[in-house]
Amino acid sequence: PVKFKPVTWREVEEGCARIAEEISAKGVKVDVIVGVLRGGWIPARLLSDYLGTPAMGALEVKFYRGIGETAERPVVTQPLIVDIRDKVVLVVDDVADTGKTLNIAINFLTHYGPRKIFTAALYLKPWSMHRPDFYAEETDAWIIFPWDKAETVEELVKKKGLSLETVSKITGEDIEFIK
Ligand code: 5GP
Ligand code: MG
Ligand code: MG
Repeated sequence: PVKFKPVTWREVEEGCARIAEEISAKGVKVDVIVGVLRGGWIPARLLSDYLGTPAMGALEVKFYRGIGETAERPVVTQPLIVDIRDKVVLVVDDVADTGKTLNIAINFLTHYGPRKIFTAALYLKPWSMHRPDFYAEETDAWIIFPWDKAETVEELVKKKGLSLETVSKITGEDIEFIK
């Protein structure tokens, strides 16, 4: 049985605030924030606000199964537009699960000659191969973020056949408005 962890907007803000505090406490001065689309964009934007770092870019990473491959691997699917050469970069995603996405992101960004790359994720799964430099909380549950609630509800209702009432209990709120 899958364990779920619904996360509120408030918890997202608090998690990002804790990450920002830790970054400042370590004396790290971030020049550019790169959000990993799509889940990392909102935490990245909040960190831009809390750190007072207006320079932002985005990196889209999607999971694909290549020809002859059994496992899916992440691939960068949108080019980086922001300039990161000689800059201190903070890459932000919503969660590091397998850790493959952040590893691919670091690998990709390294080619643009940044001075230093730091990673941040709101959540960290204990089995992740990449441990973000900054994260708010560790969990082994499937996280339901405010920005992916509709797709989670759809999956649980349409694919797993759960009732809306059961799904409401999982998400911890009335989800009529997004069904
Ligand atoms: P990775 O496995 O590469 O660390 O994470 C890849 C992506 O899978 C994340 O950026 C995130 O979009 C998605 N993901 C992984 N675990 C979870 C989870 O518990 N909840 C949600 N909503 N997305 C997740
Ligand atoms: Mg993602
Ligand atoms: Mg996602």
